[in-house]
Amino acid sequence: MGKAELTIHETTAMFLRVAQRMQESEDLLTQADKAIGDGDHGIGMARGFAAVQAKLAATPPTTVAELLKTTGMALLTSIGGASGVIFGTLYRGGARNLTGDSIFNSETLARMLTDGLAAVQERGKANPGDKTMVDALAPAAAQAAELAAAPLDEALPAVAEAARLGMEATKGMVAATGKARALGPRAIGYADPGALSMYLILDFMAEFVTGGE
Ligand code: ADP
Ligand code: MG
Repeated sequence: MGKAELTIHETTAMFLRVAQRMQESEDLLTQADKAIGDGDHGIGMARGFAAVQAKLAATPPTTVAELLKTTGMALLTSIGGASGVIFGTLYRGGARNLTGDSIFNSETLARMLTDGLAAVQERGKANPGDKTMVDALAPAAAQAAELAAAPLDEALPAVAEAARLGMEATKGMVAATGKARALGPRAIGYADPGALSMYLILDFMAEFVTGGE
């Protein structure tokens, strides 16, 4: 059975599931970053989400904003390199307009992704088409805004699918920023590692709300 919305306790459980599954994805992310970067993305994300797991277990949040801020801070302070700042900013920025919320529904998801995207773009200045995680996040945020009134177990799989298509599209792009920029057209054919992470995070959230494994 899927879930239309989540309590704060269930939302924390969803984030813990994502943290576990992101650590299990370390090799996949390492391979992606080895192809067009320096190969540290897997180790960084695994370290970051291990820190998230530890923080959430030690201090269970009472609001969605607190959950997002704790997650963002854990990523920001434990991952070196671009993705610590970028994914930390996604979660911290995503909390901007969620003060006091203690349930997580499709509207919460839409606000988190829209505000998170704005914060990431303010911070990193990447635009869609630059071959970054923004290419997975922007279509996911747009899809979430469209489905803000739908049950969460309907919205999240569609949002994850939008992110997956965005990640797939990065294979055809030349990087305008980050380490892959130096490769020029040689980066074509490879997905951006951060876009892959962005898709995986949303896919693991979808997996949790639909009750899949
Ligand atoms: P580093 O580039 O420092 O080695 P990682 O390998 O952990 O860091 O992360 C690289 C990922 O970070 C890229 O694949 C990209 O998706 C993301 N990234 C880098 N710079 C930016 C930026 N300015 N805006 C958005 N995302 C970015
Ligand atoms: Mg790297």
